Amino acid sequence: MPQAVHVLTFPIDHVIARQHGGETHAENLAMSCVRCNSCKGPNIAGIDPRSRSLTRLFNPRIDHWAEHFALRDATILGLTSVGRTTVIVLQLNHPDSVALRLSLIAEGVFTH
Ligand SMILES: [Zn+2]
Repeated sequence: MPQAVHVLTFPIDHVIARQHGGETHAENLAMSCVRCNSCKGPNIAGIDPRSRSLTRLFNPRIDHWAEHFALRDATILGLTSVGRTTVIVLQLNHPDSVALRLSLIAEGVFTH
């Protein structure tokens, strides 16, 4: 999601939260939209809705988006346990997010 379409500046936060020993250096910091960041909180894992297994979240520093997710219309599909878990924990398909994605796709701003 491009920051330019958001009213609020994306915060810089820890990928691995300080609560879990994450350090404050560039390799562990990322910009994220306020909605995703508030859903992620200190979480680094969740429950895969298919297997019901504890599963780590997608890490953009080591994972490839296309391996774990696909876009159908404006809905993000989790292709793997990591993808499904991340979609759930970050609420990537919240109705407001899907509506925003639909608008951005129509405007040609959001691509995949
Ligand atoms: Zn987001």
